Amino acid sequence: MTTSNEKLFDRAQLVIPGGVNSPVRAFRSVGGTPRFFKKGKGPRFWDAAGQEYIDYVCSWGPLLHGHANPEIVQGVCAIAQDGMSFGAPTELEINLAERLISLMPSLEMVRLTSSGTEATMSAIRLARGFTGRTNIVKFDGCYHGHGDALLVKAGSGALTLGQPDSKGIPADLASHTLVLPYNDVDALQACFKEYGDSIAAIIVEPIAGNMNMVLPHHSFLQTCREVTQEYGAILIFDEVMTGFRVALGGAQSIYGITPDLTTLGKVIGGGMPLAAFGGRREIMEHLAPLGPVYQAGTLSGNPVAVTAGLINLQLASEPGLYERLGDMTRAVMDGITNIAERYGFNLSSCAVGGMFGLHFQAQCPTNLKEVMGADNALFKRFFHGMLNEGVYFAPSAFEAGFVSTVHGTQELHETLEAAEKVFCQLAN
Ligand SMILES: *Cc1c(COP(=O)(O)O)cnc(C)c1O
Repeated sequence: MTTSNEKLFDRAQLVIPGGVNSPVRAFRSVGGTPRFFKKGKGPRFWDAAGQEYIDYVCSWGPLLHGHANPEIVQGVCAIAQDGMSFGAPTELEINLAERLISLMPSLEMVRLTSSGTEATMSAIRLARGFTGRTNIVKFDGCYHGHGDALLVKAGSGALTLGQPDSKGIPADLASHTLVLPYNDVDALQACFKEYGDSIAAIIVEPIAGNMNMVLPHHSFLQTCREVTQEYGAILIFDEVMTGFRVALGGAQSIYGITPDLTTLGKVIGGGMPLAAFGGRREIMEHLAPLGPVYQAGTLSGNPVAVTAGLINLQLASEPGLYERLGDMTRAVMDGITNIAERYGFNLSSCAVGGMFGLHFQAQCPTNLKEVMGADNALFKRFFHGMLNEGVYFAPSAFEAGFVSTVHGTQELHETLEAAEKVFCQLAN
């Protein structure tokens, strides 16, 4: 039985604020009715009206191997037969912790949580507890979940303290977060010169994926490492999006920089609610019950979620997988940008592993200010054109996109055929 997305959206809006359980799903920045999904298989999914789409969102990253991967589904069903949750330790959690540590050398110990937000909140608390300091540094345009201390935007002027980016966050709490431009080495050095002794941590997306996709300059990440070392602050790489998405060892393996703490999520749960934070043993040992920094979770390390994550990572460990994934992602990006160029549009792209950014401007941006310079009106028309043709991109110009390991030449072909049609329409 099918029903219309409009009908479902009407019903949803009566009982769920905005009709959605996470704001970007509401299509506010592109307009129109969000699609309500009821089935996914591999690189494709189907909405309530039965319309099929090639999926370039992949649940915002987790579905590294596409929808309803048979091995993950089978593993999850089997484990659920033995109980959904115990609120007590299981061997599976040890297996996942060991797997994460073996894949990411900067991790000596990890703690599992149920969402990326929890992981970043906990990592910040741990950094503050470990250093005895209060201030943290984040970068404009990076998203680290919706914890109070991290939902903060830049104040006016270069070196001012942060301001709440949402109602409900106390200004004095936000003032402990210093917000700097991404990729700005000078601002970072000036900030540490002035506030270095009071800074507990830098938290950074080592490849930014929440202001569309923005690549770091190597010198920027290098400076993050140097100033934290010099001033005794903790470097936190937020790899909730990039971990096991851009490479098996995360962005830190690509740039060769070792953070003190790393936060993970998305791919490590294979589509189930699961995240983690981890890093140097001496820091992690400050967590309760060993140390004085409290952190907990009723469903943390849930056996069903951990099983999905273990299989996702097992499948990710196949030799050559990220090279193939990177080639496919690059092919989709090159194909689309070539077509746009032929029709006279400014479109640039970047891609690493299974993560990509499409920018409706001549050159890829390097910080939030440049991201804001893209042609948003054109993006909206492109988005809706592609949606009509059965190709689902993120419903916002400020999100990265994702390709799975089961997106193949057929999907590439159909995507480029759709893009050809859409840009032809937009040009006329
Ligand atoms: C998605 C994301 C988060 C938040 O994770 P949730 O599971 O949505 O709470 C944090 N940091 C980054 C970099 C993310 O991409």
